[in-house]
Amino acid sequence: MIKINENFLQLEENYLFSTINKKVSEYQKENPNAKIIKLGIGDVTRPLPQIVVEAIKKSADEMGNINTFRGYGPEQGYEFLKDKIIENEYKNLGIKSNEIFISDGAKCDTGGIIEIFNPNIKVGIMNPVYPVYLDTNVMYGTAGKYDQTTKQYSNIIYINSTENNNFLPKPSELTEIPDLIYICSPNNPTGVAMNAELLKSWVEFAKQNKSIILFDSAYKAFIEEDNIPHSIYEIEGAKEVAIEFKSYSKTAGFTGLRCAYTVVPQECVANYKAGEKDISLNKLWNRRTTTKFNGVSYITQRAAESIYTEEGKKAIKENIDYYKENAKILLDGLKKAGIQCYGGINSPYVWLKTPNGISSWEYFDILLKKYNIVGTPGVGFGTNGEGYFRLTAFGDKAKTIEAMERLTK
Ligand code: PLP
Repeated sequence: MIKINENFLQLEENYLFSTINKKVSEYQKENPNAKIIKLGIGDVTRPLPQIVVEAIKKSADEMGNINTFRGYGPEQGYEFLKDKIIENEYKNLGIKSNEIFISDGAKCDTGGIIEIFNPNIKVGIMNPVYPVYLDTNVMYGTAGKYDQTTKQYSNIIYINSTENNNFLPKPSELTEIPDLIYICSPNNPTGVAMNAELLKSWVEFAKQNKSIILFDSAYKAFIEEDNIPHSIYEIEGAKEVAIEFKSYSKTAGFTGLRCAYTVVPQECVANYKAGEKDISLNKLWNRRTTTKFNGVSYITQRAAESIYTEEGKKAIKENIDYYKENAKILLDGLKKAGIQCYGGINSPYVWLKTPNGISSWEYFDILLKKYNIVGTPGVGFGTNGEGYFRLTAFGDKAKTIEAMERLTK
């Protein structure tokens, strides 16, 4: 008899975005004249820069010409893109071409990487968190059993990210040692970013305990403060203990085009049994990639390459600056309305504390019904998100201004 992977039964139903959509459409139906402003989306809204569009057209033409047509490409990505990544993102950091894996998204890679580890390891995940890390651990069997009362999985080490530590947990706060640690900086959903000193303490912790850090910096393009690393490899020794995920989604508006990359340094090793020879994680990820992943299309990789031209850099900076201005509008407006908030400086996300201790969902209803503004209840990202709310800077500028005017009036 065919049987399912029972781990899937341990998944907590995620009603977050479907509940939001349902509530919004019901309200809109009852109030057809309400001008609802959506500040909940985590997707970009600015179109692709012209130079990216030109690169797509040019490479599409190449695919239609017998002399320049390309079939299956290398699953790990074309050298032309990897060279540009090394030159522009890892200058002087010693990252080599065979350590870079071009992919169709940081979601797939942060979600798939767990497969190269033993399902019996202890995984450390921040609470609140980008839900993909947790759910993919549940599917793989690393998370253990779900407890309806605590709303936690038995085998996950939850790393508290709360107001008490400014949403920036330190390794010294851990009560148990994780073998694998997910760090997202700048963070979704809290919008805060780890400085070099804090990141260094995590790298040292990982080295001491033979743990591996999975460092997701999908929002690194939003970093503006000097002491915030754009790559974990800026920290000495990180190549031995960290795998890094980067994405063109938020950096260059590629959410619809799909391109990202993962760096697995040669120095990164792990074992399967004490006393046995260390095994290269790069080798395992390479094997996994060539077996299960088809690679990113030639056209998309040429599009990604184009953002490293002078024109490309200028165009993506303009888009990021647009969102950053929105983030500032949100921060200023919320402060004026007397609402305590975090993030929004090195990040497109503003994480606000709901007034008078009301729940995330109560605040959602107030914002929707009283101000016609839609955001994301923090509790949807984990139990520590209760009493918090996420707004994003990815919307239209005029509408972001209007939303803040409604709140401050
Ligand atoms: N990592 C984080 C923290 C995210 O918030 C997101 C998207 O929202 C992703 C990864 C997904 O990136 P991609 O579009 O490259 O799959």
